Amino acid sequence: MSDNMLDAPVLVLVDRAPGGAPTSAALGLVSIARGLTSGDVVALVVGDVDADTIAALAAVGASRLLTADLGGRETVAAVAADAVVAAVKSVSPAVALVGSDYRGKEIAGRAAVLLGSACASDVGDLRVVGGELHASKLVLSGTWSTTMTVSAQADSTPVISVHPSAAEPVPPATGAEELPVEAVDVPLTAEAAAVKVVSRELADAAAGPDLSEAQRVVVMGRGTDGDLDLVHSLADPLQAAIGATRVACDEGWIERSAQVGQTGASIAPRLYIGLGVSGAVHHTSGIQGAGTIVAVCDDSEAPIFEMADYGVVGDVAEVVPQLVEELERLRG
Ligand SMILES: Cc1cc2nc3c(=O)[nH]c(=O)nc-3n(C[C@H](O)[C@H](O)[C@H](O)COP(=O)(O)OP(=O)(O)OC[C@H]3O[C@@H](n4cnc5c(N)ncnc54)[C@H](O)[C@@H]3O)c2cc1C
Repeated sequence: MSDNMLDAPVLVLVDRAPGGAPTSAALGLVSIARGLTSGDVVALVVGDVDADTIAALAAVGASRLLTADLGGRETVAAVAADAVVAAVKSVSPAVALVGSDYRGKEIAGRAAVLLGSACASDVGDLRVVGGELHASKLVLSGTWSTTMTVSAQADSTPVISVHPSAAEPVPPATGAEELPVEAVDVPLTAEAAAVKVVSRELADAAAGPDLSEAQRVVVMGRGTDGDLDLVHSLADPLQAAIGATRVACDEGWIERSAQVGQTGASIAPRLYIGLGVSGAVHHTSGIQGAGTIVAVCDDSEAPIFEMADYGVVGDVAEVVPQLVEELERLRG
């Protein structure tokens, strides 16, 4: 093992968008894995896999592909955790990586317990230093960054959930390699086998772009007073996903799945626009990975302005229509 690279394989559980393609966060995870090891980067896809998925994974540095047929039950975290365990036993990786959404964190914790190994969640940066795996994450609502070493051993594989802001998909400099596809058998634990999916439907909040994947997000705060049409008037022309503060969800203005923050989704868009959002630390801990932050709020003392790149002190009902008009003018 070199000082800054592992030589054992790194396993990545590939999250997929509703259409089946790998999410950009999953492709980013594969590129992170490529930067950690000189050995194989093994992508694990649960469910059917098509040629486009194989090509996309090869392009970002996967060198082996494991597939697991879970009989359509891959949305159950316990079932997916069993697949991770089976893949770990099959390829003995130094570390297994999963995405850090609700499901990913459940999978990571459960798989680590089954493997009797370490688990770290919501990691924002991973690197090999002096032959050791260093994992960094923000804690205490984003006010501190902490780094831990995680023993990366093939005989006790740690499972780490990685925050979507950690990487952008980058094709390897050497170009895509051949990607052999192998099926892995997944023996289900009794707990996973006990869970049956009886129905699945897309939540209304998901009708627009996916919040965790979106490059642009407009967030509805208390200051919008529940005016979802106003939020849409800005989000739609930007093709932005709509997020919300906990207050907006508590008020019933929008589904809980739209909540961004400590007890909601962590997002990493290029552009975040907060409308009537004060910027409480419980909310802003979920936007640490955001690129440009724009805030429209009538309180010039609101903490959101401390982290905003652009801020407008004003009433959303007056400012948003002007923003929309200006967008239309710029687009001709
Ligand atoms: C354990 C715990 C976990 C939490 N988890 C989360 C979480 O995951 N996500 C989350 O968001 N919150 C979370 N919260 C709640 C959080 O602390 C805040 O209460 C919440 O984020 C505030 O939401 P807000 O900004 O919409 O409302 P407020 O803090 O009330 O801010 C509204 C802002 O809009 C401004 N405003 C009012 N009218 C207008 C107008 N017409 N035009 C422009 N501006 C206007 C106000 O001046 C104010 O600054 C959590 C709290 C706790 C205790």
